[in-house]
Amino acid sequence: MKTVRMEEMTWPQIKAAIASGFTTAVVGVGSTEQHGPHLPTMTDARIGDELAHRVALKLGNALHARTIAVGLSDHHLAFPGTLSLKPETLQRILRDYVDSLVRHGFTRIVFLPSHGGNFSTVQAAIEEAREAHPRVEITGYTDLFGLTGFLNSASAEYGVTAEASGAHAGENETSMMMALESDLVVTDEFAPGYLGPTGENELKIIFDKGMPALTSNGVLGDPRTASAERGETYLERLAAFLAAEMEQRSAPRR
Ligand SMILES: [Zn+2]
Repeated sequence: MKTVRMEEMTWPQIKAAIASGFTTAVVGVGSTEQHGPHLPTMTDARIGDELAHRVALKLGNALHARTIAVGLSDHHLAFPGTLSLKPETLQRILRDYVDSLVRHGFTRIVFLPSHGGNFSTVQAAIEEAREAHPRVEITGYTDLFGLTGFLNSASAEYGVTAEASGAHAGENETSMMMALESDLVVTDEFAPGYLGPTGENELKIIFDKGMPALTSNGVLGDPRTASAERGETYLERLAAFLAAEMEQRSAPRR
């Protein structure tokens, strides 16, 4: 097979792939929202697309379904270019994805949110879809602190603090975007944002009051030490981590 990206395949190619055992579909759930003065609004969707693709390749029996490019970004709406869905809208989109994919014979559907605001809605959608399709394994990686913790510890290996690695447009995401879309990264605009802790309290402030309550430039972290080479390492390690988590989770069900 030339590709596992379903959007690049014809329907007979997809039908043949499913028949030959490619019965898992992997879906990234990104966002279109401000990422500071230095990263494009596609950032979470682009990273989510890349991760879903790499996870599909690592799982070995998976196809990559079209990435969902808009998510729950109300807390970023103070910044132009942000597009935001309501939770019930995203939940219905996810359900429609599941219903479509199940009809074609996929028996496992994996959702990979790449934007913090999406995690709890993706989890709710997974639970709803499981009820509707009890024979299909519907799963995903919905542990937000697990994800940020993994990324911060990857950064720590290069001497980057968790605060600089950041939860939004910091060293970590900026490095990944330099690896993926170097032409779209505005290096002249690299500037630190909020550099305090980002635990439950800070997330509550962000979701209740919006990003400007913590950061005026839209950044949580510090992009100034970002590097493309490191970004490639982060993407590869994160994809391996997510693929391993999904493999582990699939065994006990059914
Ligand atoms: Zn992001």
